[in-house]
Parts: sequence; structure tokens; C-alpha cells
Amino acid sequence: MRWTKTKLRDLQLRLAQAYPDAKCALDHADPFQLVVATVLSAQCTDSRVNITTPALFARYPDAASLARANPAELEGLIRSTGFYHNKAKNLLGLANALLTRHSGKVPNDAHQLAALPGVGQKTANVVLANAFGVPALAVDTHIFRVARRLGLSAGKTPEKVEADLCRLFPREDWIELHHQLIFHGRRCCDARKPDCGNCAALSLCDVGQGKLADPHSGATLLARNKKPDEPSVIAFNSDADSALKMPTGPQRIMSLVPSVTELLVQWGLTSKLVGRTRYCISPKWIRATVPEVGGTKDPNFPRIVDLKPDLVILEKDENSKSVADTLTGLGISWLALEIRSVKDCLAAWLMLGKQLGAMDQAKTRVAELKKLLSPKPKAGPRTLTLIWKNPWISAGPDTYVGDLVRCAGFTPMGPERYPTFSEEELDALDPEVILLPSEPYRFTKRHAVELQKRFPSATIHLLNGQAITWYLSRTELGLECLRELL
Ligand code: SF4
Repeated sequence: MRWTKTKLRDLQLRLAQAYPDAKCALDHADPFQLVVATVLSAQCTDSRVNITTPALFARYPDAASLARANPAELEGLIRSTGFYHNKAKNLLGLANALLTRHSGKVPNDAHQLAALPGVGQKTANVVLANAFGVPALAVDTHIFRVARRLGLSAGKTPEKVEADLCRLFPREDWIELHHQLIFHGRRCCDARKPDCGNCAALSLCDVGQGKLADPHSGATLLARNKKPDEPSVIAFNSDADSALKMPTGPQRIMSLVPSVTELLVQWGLTSKLVGRTRYCISPKWIRATVPEVGGTKDPNFPRIVDLKPDLVILEKDENSKSVADTLTGLGISWLALEIRSVKDCLAAWLMLGKQLGAMDQAKTRVAELKKLLSPKPKAGPRTLTLIWKNPWISAGPDTYVGDLVRCAGFTPMGPERYPTFSEEELDALDPEVILLPSEPYRFTKRHAVELQKRFPSATIHLLNGQAITWYLSRTELGLECLRELL
């Protein structure tokens, strides 16, 4: 792609349309709070920083109070953002430098900012743009990836990419573009699974169209774009490739994933099931008919070998990589699903249906779920789904549970994956709705009452944990349960 002025403008319009809400993701009330939050955001997600900063700013509202902070107390308050020793040291140095060199105020000059402890060029640009409205285009990991995929830069360092972007786009658009590119990287042009099929910039992107290899991963993305229903949710070892190509398909299947075991039974494949984990307990009668091979994380490998499976089905969160590696070492075929969204279920059903000889059942499930998913609901109340206590752990927006919650019409909260929270961080989240599933932690009425006292204005729901965590076998049920709550 040769980027002409017209095409660059076209890209900007598309991004503006796709992300009208693009803005600085770090919560802040003044330049001091922004520079502190930006220092904390190194090697940490913005949402995690936003959970940490309310308590921090309540304790240290300005440079003078932060300069006097007790290092151990400061470290305790920022511990969950990672690298807290260094960050605390930088924050103390930063606060002292602000006091001695700038009378406690954050300067609005790029050189003075970049000279402060813990503040490099990137942080300086973020602060300049967001606190003072000075055009700047800080290149973070998202912008670096997106710019290179779109062919806006071939730079190998963030500085080089920044220079290329600043040359291509008008100075007055830098701040807006900075936020749009970050939103695009987060919501669509994901590092691992870019959603090219739904990308507003696809026709402008050679990488997305498969004309060029992805500079981020080295892979070609074409196959995914051509076949949107093909799963990006599967990995398998080379032995599994041959098992899947057997004319009759695998005849001796072992599932180390409770919900997949249930799915195979739902699809009438019980006679092919030769093994399950001790957590594969639904339907109840398979406990008596299908041999058990240990747990999901610690399967009994000699028992697995004895049962001679053609194929073992795994899931990346449920079963560790070492399980897959051991199976490979034993010469056993495996296939690993990766279910992180409701859409992944559609793809996984079709793939499993095709490979296991249950295509009709798969197509029926796909059609029913697609009906349930339409129309797309508006973003509803900010919802925290807790899955553990001591410590508090939630299911983040980029997990299967988070996506199910979103598809039902809630707005999932919190950092990505499965973040843990201190008591102060939990309070700072201030959710409108709290979901307490009965699995994996057994949340009960008592917990609901405790949380209600803590969050008097939140609506708290106890709900069936298996309905919302058992992907593939109970996806439709989970969606219906959640919609009923709403
Ligand atoms: S088409 Fe794909 S690779 Fe290109 S910008 Fe869009 S999501 Fe990223």
C-alpha cells in the first residue's frame, strides 16, 4: 500500500467513525495525577492503574505530599501495578524534582518533562498531549503494532515509528489519532488475534488482506479473513493432524475439559469417549461409564496411555502447556481449544463438528446461538463478575465469561484476563452490578449480603456458575440466564 494523502485521510475518517469515544484511558484530574498514572502504566494495563490510583491520590494529592511519602507505604499502594520497588523510587524522585525544579507543578515543556525521573519521551508526550493539549504522538505497544501492520511505518523502534507517523499526519490531528490507534489496537487489531474480518481499515491494509506477512507475528492473516467461521481457537500437535485426517475421524476420544465432555455427550458421541477428568461430571451417569484419568491440571498419564486415545481434547486455560507437552512426548495426539469469547464457541463448534463427525449438531447450535446474539444489545450497567474470594479475582472483559456478560447486555469491568484485587482496589471499582457465580468459588447469600453492605447502590446477583463458565455445552443457557437478570 502506498499511502497517499487521500488514503491517509480516508484512514483517519474510518478510525474516527469506528472509535468516536477514543480518549486517554488513564483516569486523572490534573497534570500531576496524569504524570504519576503514566509512570505507573509501564508494564501494566491502564485499567489496573485506574484501580490503583484513587487510593494513591487520596493519600498523596500533590507533589509535596508524595515527596514526603514513606517508601514502604508507597510501595504497598502501588504493588499491584508490578515493578513497584522501581516505580516507588521513580515517583519519589519525580515528586522531589517537581518540588525543587518546578515549584511542585508539572512543566509543559517536552525537554523539562523528559528530564524528570521515570519520565521518558513517551511519558512526556502522553502528558503534553493529554494534560496540556500540546500535539504529540506517543507510540505505545498498540500503536507500534498497528502502524507497522497498516504499513504506515516499517520502523523497528517506537521512536522511528513515531517519527514516521508525525511525518504522515497533520500535527493538529496527532492527539486524536494517538487515541484512535490505541483503541484500534485494543479492540480490533489484537496482537494475537486481529479481527481483520471486522476491521474498518481492512481494504487499506495489505497485511489484513494477506498480501504481506504480519510484521508482528510473521504469519499470513489471509486464511482467517477468507474464512471468518474458521476457528482461530485451535492448536494441535502434528500427531493430531493425522488423527483428524483418518477416514472415519478419531474413534477413541478423551476430553480433559468438563464442558467439552458434556458437549460430546450432547452430540451423541458418548460411545467414542474413552476418558474424562474427575471434574467431567455432567451428565452424572458418565461417572459410571467413562473412565476417569485424574484432574485437568494433573492427569494420570499412565492411565491415559492405557486407554489408547486417538485424540485428547484440551483447552488452553483449563489444561496447562505441560500437559500438552507430555502428551506429545508420549506420542499421543491432542487438540487444544482456546475459548475467549462467545464468537470462539461458534468457530469451535464448527471445527469440532467437522472433525468429529457431528456437523449437523454443530450447525444447529451455531444457528440457534446466532439467533440469540442478534440484535446486539446496547452497553448496559458496569458489571463486575467475581470468581474468587481471598484474594478477590474477577473474570475480565477479554475472557469467555466477560464476553458472555457483554453479549447479554452488561458492560464487563476490570483489567483483562483474571485480575486479583486488594480490598482498596475492589472498593475503587465501584460497580453498578456484581455477579457472584456459584463456581469456581462457591459464592452464597452470605457473600451477597456482605458485598451489598460494601456497595449499597450496586445490584448483586447470585447465579449458576456452570451456566456462565461452561463454554460450548452451556453457552446458550448462560446467555439466557444473564439476560433474565438484566
Ligand atoms: S486489517 Fe487486520 S491487521 Fe490490518 S489493521 Fe485491521 S485488524 Fe489490523
